[in-house]
Amino acid sequence: MIKNKVVHDFISIALQSGGWMELDRLYLENQVIALVGPVNEEEEIEEETQIKSSKELVQELLLVAEKNELIDLKNFEEKAELNAKLMSFLTPPPSVVNALFSQHYDTSEKEATDYFYLMNLTNGYVNEENNQYKSETLDDYSFIIQSKKWQSTSEFTMCPYCFESEGHGKVENTNKRLIRMNLKGESWGFYYHPKPLLREHSIFTPENHQPLVMNRQLQETMLQLVDVYPHYFVSLDPEVIKLSPHGFLYGGDNQMPLALADNNFMFDIPGFVTVEASLVNWPTSVIRLKTTSKKNLMNALEYVTLKWQQYSYPSLDIIAKDEDGKDLHSVLPVFRKEEDAYIVEMILQDASSEFSRSKAYEAIIHEDAYPVDQLGVINLKQDVEINETNLAVITENMAKQSIFRRPQDGQKAFLRFIDTL
Ligand SMILES: [Zn+2]
Repeated sequence: MIKNKVVHDFISIALQSGGWMELDRLYLENQVIALVGPVNEEEEIEEETQIKSSKELVQELLLVAEKNELIDLKNFEEKAELNAKLMSFLTPPPSVVNALFSQHYDTSEKEATDYFYLMNLTNGYVNEENNQYKSETLDDYSFIIQSKKWQSTSEFTMCPYCFESEGHGKVENTNKRLIRMNLKGESWGFYYHPKPLLREHSIFTPENHQPLVMNRQLQETMLQLVDVYPHYFVSLDPEVIKLSPHGFLYGGDNQMPLALADNNFMFDIPGFVTVEASLVNWPTSVIRLKTTSKKNLMNALEYVTLKWQQYSYPSLDIIAKDEDGKDLHSVLPVFRKEEDAYIVEMILQDASSEFSRSKAYEAIIHEDAYPVDQLGVINLKQDVEINETNLAVITENMAKQSIFRRPQDGQKAFLRFIDTL
C-alpha cells in the first residue's frame, strides 16, 4: 500500500482510540489532509513497523501545514488551535469514552483508569513533560522532588470545573473528557489534571456550580470515591476550597510518599476499639486511622478533629483559637484504601504564622503545588534546580511546618495530645 506514512500512522492511533472503525480510515485521512494540506511524500507502508508517538506525528503534520502555507508556526495561537484539532481525532466523543471506561471498569478499576489516562496522554490533554524528577531522602523521610515544564496556556474563559467545559473552546478544553459518576445520589465528573503535580493527578467535581463545604457529608463522598477508585487517594485543598465558587476534590496514585511512611507509635482511642490509630513517621504531624468500617472511621475522624480543634499547648506555641476566638486548628484529611481497610491520614494544621511555610520555601516551590507537598511530592518552580541548597530549604520548611516539633519536646507533646483522646 502506497501512502503518506505520517498521515497513515496518525490515523492508526486515532483508530486505536476507540472512537472510529477501520472503515473510517480513508475518510479520516481526507479530513486530516483537509486541515494540513496535501502531503506529497508517499511510500510503501508496512503495517508492522513501529510508529511514532502521537505528539511526534502531530509535530510533523504541523510542519506539513506550514509548508503548505496554511499556518505560521511562530503564531502560538494558530499552532495550538491546529494542534487541538488534530488531537481531537484521537479523542472519542464523551459517550464513547464513558462507555469504554465502564467496559474496562468491569475488568478492573485500574484497567479503566489506565485506559482513560493513556487517552489523556495520547491526545496531549495531560501535559506530562518532566523537567527533573528525583526521589530524595531528606532527614530520613522519602520525598519525590520534581520540576515540570508546562506549556503556557491562555486564560480560561469559563469555570474549569463546570461540565460545560468539556470540549469547550478551540484549545484548552477541546479534548477534555469527563467520566460521569453518581456519588451518593449526586452527579459528579472525573478528569485528569492537565498539569499534573503528582502521578495520575485526578480532579473530582460535582456537576453543580457551587462551593464545597468541609463536613461529614463531603467526607463520606470522599470515602465513596476511594471505593470507586481503590488505587487512588482522595483529598482536597482547604485553602482553595474556601475561595473556589465551584468546589472540587483531588486525588491520584495512592502510593505517594506519605502513604508509604511507617507508623511510629500505635495507640488506642477509647470508644473506638475497631480503629487502629498511629502516629506516622513523617516530618509534619500526622495521625493515621485505619478500620474496615467506614462509619467507625468517620466517627473517629470527627472525634479526633474536634479534640484537635480544642487543643492548646502554649509553651510550644500551639494555640487552638486566636484573640478573636477564631479556630486556628484544622485537619487536612487524605483518604485511601488498603484491601478492605479504609485509611485516613489526618495532617494536623495550625493556621498561626508560627507554622506557616517559610519565605525561602515559597520562593522555590511552584505556586500551585500546595498541598501535595504535605503528601511528600514537592513541585519546584520550573527554573529551580534540585540541589543541596534547595533540598535544605525544603527540609527546614517541613520542620517549621511540623506542629509537634521533633525530635526535642515535640514527640512528647504529641503523645500528650494523644492522651487527651
Ligand atoms: Zn463551575
